Amino acid sequence: MLILVANLGSTSFKYRLFDMTDERLLARGGVERIGSAKARFSAQAGGTAWEEEADAPDHAVAVEACLRFLADPQRGVLRSPADIRAIGFKAVHALGLTGVHRVDASVLAAMEAYNNVAPAHNPPYVRAMQLLAEKLPHIPLIAAFETGFHQTIPPANRLYAVPREWAEKHGIVRHGFHGASHRYIAERTSEILGRKDLRIISCHLGGSSSLCAIRSGQSLANSLGFSPQTGLPHNNRVGDFDPFALSVIMRATGKTLEQVLDDLANRSGLLGLSGVSNDLRDIEAAADQGNAAAQDALAVFVASVRHYLGAYLVLLGGADVIVFTGGIGENSARLRSAVCEGLEWLGISLDPQRNVAAKGEMPIQHASSRVQLWTMPTNEELIVARQARAFLERSAG
Ligand code: ADP
Repeated sequence: MLILVANLGSTSFKYRLFDMTDERLLARGGVERIGSAKARFSAQAGGTAWEEEADAPDHAVAVEACLRFLADPQRGVLRSPADIRAIGFKAVHALGLTGVHRVDASVLAAMEAYNNVAPAHNPPYVRAMQLLAEKLPHIPLIAAFETGFHQTIPPANRLYAVPREWAEKHGIVRHGFHGASHRYIAERTSEILGRKDLRIISCHLGGSSSLCAIRSGQSLANSLGFSPQTGLPHNNRVGDFDPFALSVIMRATGKTLEQVLDDLANRSGLLGLSGVSNDLRDIEAAADQGNAAAQDALAVFVASVRHYLGAYLVLLGGADVIVFTGGIGENSARLRSAVCEGLEWLGISLDPQRNVAAKGEMPIQHASSRVQLWTMPTNEELIVARQARAFLERSAG
């Protein structure tokens, strides 16, 4: 069963093609700068890599071109695009929907209703899914929502202290996100250690970041809340924030609520704090050159990770494993070291050499550490492909 998993940005499309009979990755690739005449196509399949610039006015054209490449007799890995059983999407948020769904008009409407709650994610997904449904009607589109993994979060960690009907009538609760990543980390860690009853704190630190407390494979809390703008500071999104500051900023600047929310969703987070960049590498470099705002941005980010780490250690009664994943979690030894600093009394002790040398899936704890510490590349696409396969099998049977 071949499943293509699509990851969409406003001007990008990345994919992985899996053979789900044995979960083999057959090909990966994507298109950047969609909407321009010089979109960049790239692919890796069967040991060959390929790059090309071409016109890609919209996502459907980009996807069709990728499917043609995959079915190319010389370089491709498919006999025909019709061999693809489904396109799976790591969808973020929808009004009143979670779990896995075949994309139809009602799913698109539910996603569109939350365009302003997930402004970086939902609009490009809705647009691209609409186009794909029109142009590739023979391929089922399956949306696996990020919130699905967090259905096990109990009321204590799910409810905000707001009038009850906000939750009951309007769904204003902590939904949690990054579900595919945290689910992968939970499953993979259990597989590596050969145990299902683990207490895991999964730290997904990247363009957007969240911590998740997991017991026996189930999510008990996630630092992302009602929207993907909450919790830790993100690359350009705010993280936790006091809503009473909104009216002060609106009055002081004359901005509308929409404009202030736009600032919080696009010009805040690490970018807003540092004034340097939304990329941690640039912020680390600026901090090393003495830039005080960049130093503050790093300090706030680390403090926020430690805030949730402390909360989740209490929630789980300790941890068996702490996993660092995402672009920052996997690659920034300095960040991991700052997060774990002085936590030996909790049984958390990094091995400095292993930490600096870590690449891919690696244990990085010191021999004296009670808690195992790991770096681990996530594989959200594989989780979506598994969810799409299970959905197709359920629908067929
Ligand atoms: P996304 O959440 O958009 O998928 P990633 O998980 O790829 O993003 O993480 C991207 C972030 O990872 C970048 O913004 C950058 O800050 C960070 N990053 C990548 N490599 C490094 C590195 N070597 N050192 C520090 N940060 C890094």
